[in-house]
Amino acid sequence: MKQRASLAALPLSGSTLSETALASLPPVVGDRAALLADLERLLPPERRLTATDDLFAYECDGQTLDRALPLAVTLPETADEVASLVRACAARDIPFVARGAGTGLSGGALAVGSLVIATSRMNAILEVDVANRQAWVQPGVVNAHLTRAVAQHGLHYAPDPSSQNACTIGGNVAENSGGPHTLKYGVTTNHVLALEVVLPDGSIVMLGGPAADTPGYDLVSVFVGSEGTFGVVTKILVRLTPVPEGVKTALAIFDSITDACRGVTEILARGVLPAAVEMIDQITLRAVEAYIHAGFPLDAAAVLLVEVDGLRDDLDQQANAVLDACRAAGARDIRLARDDAERLKLWKGRKQAFGALGRVAPNYYTHDGVIPRTKLPEVLAAIGRIAKDNRVTIANVFHAGDGNLHPVVLYDEREPGVVERVRAAGDAILKLVLGTGGALSGEHGIGLEKIQYMTALFSEDDLAEMRRLRSVFDPRLLCNPGKVIPAPGRCVEPGHSHRKLPLGH
Ligand SMILES: Cc1cc2nc3c(=O)[nH]c(=O)nc-3n(C[C@H](O)[C@H](O)[C@H](O)COP(=O)(O)OP(=O)(O)OC[C@H]3O[C@@H](n4cnc5c(N)ncnc54)[C@H](O)[C@@H]3O)c2cc1C
Repeated sequence: MKQRASLAALPLSGSTLSETALASLPPVVGDRAALLADLERLLPPERRLTATDDLFAYECDGQTLDRALPLAVTLPETADEVASLVRACAARDIPFVARGAGTGLSGGALAVGSLVIATSRMNAILEVDVANRQAWVQPGVVNAHLTRAVAQHGLHYAPDPSSQNACTIGGNVAENSGGPHTLKYGVTTNHVLALEVVLPDGSIVMLGGPAADTPGYDLVSVFVGSEGTFGVVTKILVRLTPVPEGVKTALAIFDSITDACRGVTEILARGVLPAAVEMIDQITLRAVEAYIHAGFPLDAAAVLLVEVDGLRDDLDQQANAVLDACRAAGARDIRLARDDAERLKLWKGRKQAFGALGRVAPNYYTHDGVIPRTKLPEVLAAIGRIAKDNRVTIANVFHAGDGNLHPVVLYDEREPGVVERVRAAGDAILKLVLGTGGALSGEHGIGLEKIQYMTALFSEDDLAEMRRLRSVFDPRLLCNPGKVIPAPGRCVEPGHSHRKLPLGH
């Protein structure tokens, strides 16, 4: 017999969900008891989690403001097992959510009362084709593991999110993830050739293929970046990229954020395309230096970490152009990493910056709006004012070359009233970004977190077309519902209120 469950009746032990999140999530309709019984038939006990204590590890992703327990978590090992789980969900009318490593920063893997299909056991690199520079991988392969596995062939997997030691390639595909080096190399969509996918009706299909351009519609590009709302990826054919012959990394030190921002535009105006241009502000530098000891200056307002790569003969010219540009923008000092060890340490500092910020406060909340690069100075100044107005600390460490901000709001969730101020600061930042003609997200996705802002960016007609596309893949809205595109009539004014749901509900 079917049950109609209201959100209040779902197992939301101790959960917090913003009003906007609650408004986005459709009520779960379906026979939860029957699905739990199906799971017993479909998977051995060690690969299905239903006890509340086990589910807590899956109550949120890297965006920890919104939390709620799933109905159950499953750990399939094959595409056929994923298909059986999806078919069971379809039969019982229960939504399902694919999950990689749970490092997402927009609540995309949150599965309120739904079934989690976790890919952590689908973590094999299936085939490496060195001659054609391609590899078939399962979705649970950790991003950095692939690069490590193919390094012996002089190859690497170019998209390099700062979370690459944890996040999965399946998650990268869903979010169309970027990273510091995507300024030159492009984001995930530029490196995916084919996808095996379990569609929401349980069928297994192959999109794309090993040829660079397959006939017909480019459904791989449609699928990449769909944030887990079109189906579950079970196998990925990725492009591998040769490791560049040479690389030089510069640390440009600035006494003013405005000069550092000018440095970014100066570099890119000089006709060089660095592999990466990252900005790290003083709050972050201090936290990172205390942890990594990479030689970051503690008194700088900001630094730019700039990397050029390519043929050895060309490197000096590229590096000189970068140094000239930084000097012209007013850099106080510029250092080139002397060797690989120094270079890797600088990158370790950048890539572990979010973790290092744990020294400043136990919790963080980050956005990733994209703005025109020329607006960086005024936007960073405005973010400083937003921090003051909301009495929170905001650090900035981001992909400056792409204009992809990462304001990191630092807080201690135990402080009464602080969560409201953190959400208010996030709201102000997103409105600021939209005011510059920018985009809501460069790489972290819309997920649950930013869904209500979609109405500020797109007309109702645009959103209706997006819903139509989604319904081609998922007509019954069982695949990660309540994410990315707001349902008509479910909009509430984006704001900062949140509701704490009592234990036991
Ligand atoms: C410290 C830190 C630094 C980060 N730096 C970056 C960065 O530089 N660049 C960047 O782009 N992101 C960054 N992120 C965000 C995050 O790591 C990426 O979004 C990443 O791609 C998520 O991968 P995941 O395996 O953790 O996915 P999850 O968080 O588990 O899931 C993310 C989304 O993907 C969907 N999904 C997962 N697997 C599948 C699948 N097999 N099929 C269909 N859908 C699926 C989920 O449903 C969800 O909607 C960072 C996060 C952290 C915590």
